[in-house]
Amino acid sequence: MTVKQQSLILAAMVLLSVLSVSASKSTQPTSKIKSPFRLTTIVLDAGHGGRDPGNVGPGRENEKDINLAITLKLAALIREKTAYDVHLTRSADRWISLTDRAHIANQSPPSQTLFISIHCNSHSNSHVHGLESYIFNLQATDKSAAELAKWENDEEVVNPVDFIINNLYKRSVEKYSWEAARIVQSVLVSHLGSRNRNRNAPDKMVRRAPFRVLVNAKVPSLLVELGYLSNKSEYKKLSSATYQDKVANALLMSIQRFDQATRESLTNRIEARLP
Ligand SMILES: [Zn+2]
Repeated sequence: MTVKQQSLILAAMVLLSVLSVSASKSTQPTSKIKSPFRLTTIVLDAGHGGRDPGNVGPGRENEKDINLAITLKLAALIREKTAYDVHLTRSADRWISLTDRAHIANQSPPSQTLFISIHCNSHSNSHVHGLESYIFNLQATDKSAAELAKWENDEEVVNPVDFIINNLYKRSVEKYSWEAARIVQSVLVSHLGSRNRNRNAPDKMVRRAPFRVLVNAKVPSLLVELGYLSNKSEYKKLSSATYQDKVANALLMSIQRFDQATRESLTNRIEARLP
């Protein structure tokens, strides 16, 4: 990053903090305010695809295959059991840019849509395992979150100015992204019996990192890393159809709980939980 880009980022961050202070002064929520969010549309993004395998597993299946299998199962469940509209960034083994994935999500209204990017992780230490959920932030919550975002962003050059411009849009939906990621993490950890790797986040619930696929999404959005393909036992589970069904069911439950939370609970209840 050049010195010029760094100063631009700094100036924009100062501007953002001024804007957010004035916004919070002018919109004091009361317990009578209804949530303006009503979930009608789910956009599912199976990470990687085509020429980009994502993380390579020890067996036949790579990350792109597992992401797609779970995404297709989840889409089928949503269509069968709910009235939500569901859109997929890819429904086959093909490559699509991170910008285009977000563009597909942005076709639906920010006040009705949830964008979930589905991934699996990898680590040089094969003992590392567990589940992580992320929302976008310029600053990663920790070193491994920063490294992960850098790895996931690798297929495209990241323009820091994009981060700044889109961050303005993202601030307005951030509380919904956070609530959705919090629910996804807690439902998946409890239903799949996975290790909760978000415990070390500052708020102990949701991690943040500058993922390119999230920065361009103007709707509430999150990225989930379902487990580590470098861990034998998690690879075995994640590549089995039975466990993939279980993951899809837990994700559906998370979506329904998020919908319920935004219907009955008010914007300020979610705001109250934000760190
Ligand atoms: Zn990935």
